Formats: sequence, structure tokens, C-alpha cells
Amino acid sequence: MSGVFITNHVLAGALIGDALPPVPAVAVGFVSHLVMDNLPHYGGGGAPLHLPTARKDGLLGLLAIAGCTFAATPERRLPVLAGILGACLPDTDKLGEHFVGRSPWPPAFDRFHKRIQREQLNRFPIEVGAALTMSVLVVRLLPR
Ligand SMILES: [Zn+2]
Repeated sequence: MSGVFITNHVLAGALIGDALPPVPAVAVGFVSHLVMDNLPHYGGGGAPLHLPTARKDGLLGLLAIAGCTFAATPERRLPVLAGILGACLPDTDKLGEHFVGRSPWPPAFDRFHKRIQREQLNRFPIEVGAALTMSVLVVRLLPR
């Protein structure tokens, strides 16, 4: 695994989108991704993507997108999805590398994205705690 779980990026993006108009939500979501990747998190420190974990995380992330879309009020739905888009964009490198053999990003950005990771295998509780905390915030904030 490499990088913060996409589920946590989805939840952070939803919270950002709930607070901003759509275009700033994309930009702040994008920056939030890089900030979160630079916080201590679970991962194999540059080890190849662990597909079973990535599949579960991807499925959870899709469920989180659906849940946030459902939870947001109709007028906040677009900015919430914009925040999620921005917060998930940097990890399209993993999708690109897996499905078409290359990242959509310039090599310099990919090197930067890999260099900022602060991963250790004993930090799984941090990922889960962040996911639970942000899930509570999403459930409390998005429907209002
Ligand atoms: Zn990342």
C-alpha cells in the first residue's frame, strides 16, 4: 500500500466541499491530499501496491462517495463532489499505473507525490481513527 487510504481522501474532500464553492473545493481538496499524504499514515513505505488492500479501500472509497452524495443536501452536492474529485485526483497515478501502465501526471509530480509519503506498517489505527472521525463529521455536517 502506498499513500493514505483513498477512503480518507474521499471523506476529507467531502468535508472541504461542504465548506467551499465547487472550484475552490477542487483546489483545496487537491492540496488536502498532499498534506494528508505527508502526515504519518499506514503503508509499506514505497512497497508495491498491495492489491487486496487497494481493492477493499477502493470499494470503501466508492461507498463513501455514494454515502457523501446521498448525505449532502441537494444544493451542497456539487461542491461536495468537487471536493472529493480534488482530494482523489493525485492518486490517479495508481489507477493509471495499474490499468494502462503509466501515470497521467508528469514524472516530476509523481516523484514528489512518492517522496512526501510518511508511511509505517504500524499506523493502521491512525487510518481507521481518521476514517471514523471524518465519518462522524460527514454524518453530522453534510445533511444540514
Ligand atoms: Zn496520494
